[in-house]
Amino acid sequence: METRAFDLIAGALDPSSGEKIDIEMRDGAILGIAPAAPGASALEKCVFDASGFIVTPGLVETHIHLDKAFLSERLERPAANLGEAIAMTAALKPGYTLEDVTARSRRALDRALSFGVALLRAQVEIDPVLGLLSFESALALKEELAGSIALQLVAFPQEGIFNCAGTESLLREAVSRGADAIGGIPYNDRDTAEHLDFVFRLAADAGLPVDLHLDFSDDPEQLAILDVIHRTREYGLEGRVCVGHLTSLGSVPPEHARRIADGMAEAGIHVFALPATDLYLNGRGDTHAVRRGITPVSLLLDAGVNVCYGTNNLRNAFTPFGTGDPLDIALLLAQTAYMGTPGDARRLLDMCTGRAAKALGVEGWTLRPGAPADFALIRADCVQDLVYDRPRERVSIRGGKLLTRSV
Ligand SMILES: [Zn+2]
Repeated sequence: METRAFDLIAGALDPSSGEKIDIEMRDGAILGIAPAAPGASALEKCVFDASGFIVTPGLVETHIHLDKAFLSERLERPAANLGEAIAMTAALKPGYTLEDVTARSRRALDRALSFGVALLRAQVEIDPVLGLLSFESALALKEELAGSIALQLVAFPQEGIFNCAGTESLLREAVSRGADAIGGIPYNDRDTAEHLDFVFRLAADAGLPVDLHLDFSDDPEQLAILDVIHRTREYGLEGRVCVGHLTSLGSVPPEHARRIADGMAEAGIHVFALPATDLYLNGRGDTHAVRRGITPVSLLLDAGVNVCYGTNNLRNAFTPFGTGDPLDIALLLAQTAYMGTPGDARRLLDMCTGRAAKALGVEGWTLRPGAPADFALIRADCVQDLVYDRPRERVSIRGGKLLTRSV
């Protein structure tokens, strides 16, 4: 059924200026933005009355595992630590089918859409047990949902590369079939340098960005980030490398940590804090005064590093809870990274819109004439209410047309 496009979004609150605005649209793009005019919603146009809503470009999910979402009911007990979470999930893999992976992925994507997500990067597992099963599922979903949500697929060797014979050729095949980024996980392979050598070489040869799982512990000695900074420069990938977790850096004494953060800022390395999983699996070796094990967000932001956040896992051995709403993670980060001011709330929203899109290589994710008429409208009177209340009433617009409305 063809839905008529709106000509105008009237009276929405722009979180960056704090002003109410009217957005005029034509042919699926923003034509102009002006201060809200009284009575605009009564014009002889097709108008969406957005009074009481905050308007942003679509929300961005930077880091999520669709293929291992909703596995909790298959587990006999919770994982006691990261190693167990990896092993317990690997043990389930022989039971995956294409239909199963697609159904669980679709469940996660349906949630993302209902929360207002328009751009999502998925970590797609590739190993000799699954082969390209998860990747094929994700490719089909990417094509099917292209008009609703832009999917980026990371070829992700969760089980390692060199301790899992056959993974190298599978990663190369994923690249030839359309992977959008090369993933890596040096802490789950036999040798960090060997692992990173392969990932950076493959990315540079294919002209793709790198998106790593990195330094996921409380151990201040686990600093593969130093090697990543070096290789980012060596391969000319400045601005095209993302790292998820980076929680070990939170255990490093501040002077040393600041020098590392400066090096990351110079190399243009983006960081994804993944606090739902980080809080759940880190600190497990501490018997008292348990460490939080989260990314040192403020230290990195102060150094000029582009920090964003992601859902990471939904209801599996790594994180047995979660809704898939990026704003849930915004609130969790506000609480755990001491981000409690109105300015922090605006920054947290930026970390799942403009900043997040930039990390995914998409520039210009702002409200501006000429941009696609793609929006998330969220029922809130101010940005603090948006982050702290995470209102359920949301509207997604694509190309000027209504895509979803949740109440
Ligand atoms: Zn992850």
